[in-house]
Amino acid sequence: MDFSLSEDQEAIRGAVAEICARFPDEYWREADAGGDYPQEFVAALTEGGWLSILIPDEYGGAGLGMTEAAIVLEEINRSGGNGTACHAQMYTMGTLLRHGSEEQKRRYLPEIAAGRLRLQAFAVTEPTTGSDTTRLQTRAERRGGGYVVHGQKTFISRVRQSDLMLLLARTTPLEQSDDRTQGISVFLVDLREAGDAVEVRPLETMLNHHTCELFIDGLELPVESLIGEEGLGFRYILDGMNAERILVASEAIGDGRWFVERGSRYSSEREVFGRKIGSNQGVQFPLAQAHAEVEAASLLRFQAASLFDRGEPCGPQANMAKLLASQASWHAANACMTAHGGYGFAREYDVERKFREAKLLEIAPVSNNMILAYVGQRVLGMPRSY
Ligand SMILES: Cc1cc2nc3c(=O)[nH]c(=O)nc-3n(C[C@H](O)[C@H](O)[C@H](O)COP(=O)(O)OP(=O)(O)OC[C@H]3O[C@@H](n4cnc5c(N)ncnc54)[C@H](O)[C@@H]3O)c2cc1C
Repeated sequence: MDFSLSEDQEAIRGAVAEICARFPDEYWREADAGGDYPQEFVAALTEGGWLSILIPDEYGGAGLGMTEAAIVLEEINRSGGNGTACHAQMYTMGTLLRHGSEEQKRRYLPEIAAGRLRLQAFAVTEPTTGSDTTRLQTRAERRGGGYVVHGQKTFISRVRQSDLMLLLARTTPLEQSDDRTQGISVFLVDLREAGDAVEVRPLETMLNHHTCELFIDGLELPVESLIGEEGLGFRYILDGMNAERILVASEAIGDGRWFVERGSRYSSEREVFGRKIGSNQGVQFPLAQAHAEVEAASLLRFQAASLFDRGEPCGPQANMAKLLASQASWHAANACMTAHGGYGFAREYDVERKFREAKLLEIAPVSNNMILAYVGQRVLGMPRSY
């Protein structure tokens, strides 16, 4: 049992930290204020090859593991940046890699690895069905040599910064499917060819996240855009969820570390009532508590990543890591905000920005309630609630 990073892993953290240092707090603050996509940052990460580290070397990536990818995303958020701007470029291709045909992989993966194609949009959520994914209403009907899609999606992030998008749609109506997880298929949509059939409307949210509503009306897809077998898409998506959970947990851990560091630094400097505010236990203990929680979540996250890299089942660990990391980060956010007093609200301290960003990870890409239901029902074998 060795809990330390290897020399190579430390080198990865150092290399990513160097890139992040070129994008200081002001960069992220300005992007947030203007609602801008952090294009230059994403370009620097792409150029460094960091967004393609999970793509096997035979397809042009670095062929590294989930542990290394976790280190990259944690470092981005720990430095004050926001990995959610581009994290999906790392893992969305996993569905293509695991379930795509050799022809699809040879066609797309090297281009994604080189950064010439962006696959960082993943269209699952719908306005009427929300977390109840198997009841999604978007339909892909077989017509001629392909499919025609009608439906609506919401909160689809980075769609305007993507060339390709994974789309989940029903190919067999729910009532004709053997069980509700069947009859759903996953498609690789080339957004550059979608034309007017996909209307994209940006959704304003409390953070700089580039998320949109999609109105899909008669989108024609060639049969080659189907990934794997028709009707098995929900299972394919579930397969990719452990990777997503581990990587999102890593971002939350990075955020948590940032909050603890900023909160303890500020409260060790700020003097009120003739002493450092951090010497008061009311300020110090919440930060110490949050630090302990972040460290614990980090260990579970690395355990999940290590199981993933060995090809062993890691569902419970990946889910629990996402749950605990997002909670730890949120506790750290509150402790940091409180320690900053009124200055926590001042944009120039970046605490309020990170605070808004940290909250998201309790809710998306999956709400913590769904994770608790998974742990209660799948891990502990308790009765199902849905
Ligand atoms: C900024 C942002 C970016 C996003 N990006 C994407 C994206 O790129 N692609 C994508 O597909 N989706 C995306 N989402 C959507 C996100 O995954 C969903 O918001 C999330 O899964 C919850 O779905 P919902 O909002 O419909 O909530 P609902 O399903 O309506 O749930 C609302 C609340 O009720 C709780 N709840 C519902 N049913 C139960 C139950 N049975 N037991 C206990 N609690 C329950 C939920 O946990 C949640 O807290 C994004 C969301 C946001 C805010």
